[in-house]
Amino acid sequence: MQKETGFDSLCVREIKENRTTTPHVLPIYATSSFAFDSIDQGMRIFRGEESGHVYSRFGNPTINTVAEKIARLEGHGLNLEPAALFFSSGMSAIHSLILGLLQHGDKILTQANLYGGTTEQFLKILKPQGIEPVFTDLSNIDAIRECLSDTSIKLIYGESPANPTMNCIDLKALADCGQQHGVYTAIDNTFMSPCLQQPFSFGVDFIIHSTTKYLNGHGNSTAGALVARDKALMQEKIWPVMKLAGTTGNPWDAWLVHNGMKTLSLRMKQHSSNALSVAQYLEDHSQISKVNYPGLPTHRDHELATRQMKGFGGMLSFEVSGGLDAAVSFMRKLNFCVMAPTMGDVDTLVLHPASMSHINIKRELRLREGITDGLVRLSVGIEDVEDIIADLDQALS
Ligand SMILES: *Cc1c(COP(=O)(O)O)cnc(C)c1O
Repeated sequence: MQKETGFDSLCVREIKENRTTTPHVLPIYATSSFAFDSIDQGMRIFRGEESGHVYSRFGNPTINTVAEKIARLEGHGLNLEPAALFFSSGMSAIHSLILGLLQHGDKILTQANLYGGTTEQFLKILKPQGIEPVFTDLSNIDAIRECLSDTSIKLIYGESPANPTMNCIDLKALADCGQQHGVYTAIDNTFMSPCLQQPFSFGVDFIIHSTTKYLNGHGNSTAGALVARDKALMQEKIWPVMKLAGTTGNPWDAWLVHNGMKTLSLRMKQHSSNALSVAQYLEDHSQISKVNYPGLPTHRDHELATRQMKGFGGMLSFEVSGGLDAAVSFMRKLNFCVMAPTMGDVDTLVLHPASMSHINIKRELRLREGITDGLVRLSVGIEDVEDIIADLDQALS
């Protein structure tokens, strides 16, 4: 037996003896660094001759396992081996992608109806740094081609379906167009999750997730992921940004996302089925002037959505007749639906975009995108659909 250390040393030192059996479920590696067995191993790992973890800002077994699962889900059945990185938020995944890929003087071709935070990041953070967003209608391929005559555009960045009108982009046409012009394409797949839409199957280069939403699903963590079709490009361009700007996610959030993803398919089926029932109910209601849900045959992009999505998801929006006042009084009466500025959780969440998520977007800009004063956004949960509809019904009466 080794000589017993002092009491204070015993407090400090790690006990390694009981770390032998394999844990059934992914553990949370709450460690900032990894100890080397020897100086020789340390040198081999730093030289890249042996794989091994070093420091949790560069990655960690919990973080990397979640990233790998997201990569495999996005590449599932496509005969691809995509790479993924896990970030501290959806916003930091987007930011790391752009900092890694673009330089001062480059431009991003994008759409006006993006997630509000993304539009703000482009205009308030990237534009002053010399990376300018150019806004167009990404569902119009001719408009995209016209914009791409500007050769400083290096990335096309879109969302489909887009928040909150659920308009869709033809991802195949977009990816083809990007490839023809030698421009990267990135799609924020947060609204669908890889369960309902796989942008890689259409040739897109990068996929973004706010894992805060459906991938976690339970509303208890903030994190993001970026998935790249090209592993080498990810390693060369994006990994250094994550490592050196410190945009990495943390093991606790990674673990929560990992846990949530186990029920992704079950949840997405229930979200989709509940949302369709809610959309059909709203469409028939005399107080509702418009319902935006791609699963409804009346939606602008129903045919395209049927082609490129495996389900229509849990997000929808609708216009209460009577504008702002009617929308506000409707929301005051709700008591089962929860008023919270997020989406993709297991419970039904309601939001008024004009006064909440899109408050910092100019009124003309949001009106042009169908974000009217009376528009209400619903993230339909997985509760009994009768309870959701009963709440909407009493609030509309
Ligand atoms: C929430 C969201 C984001 C931002 O993600 P965070 O995790 O909040 O940083 C980006 N895109 C979409 C579509 C979102 O819904």
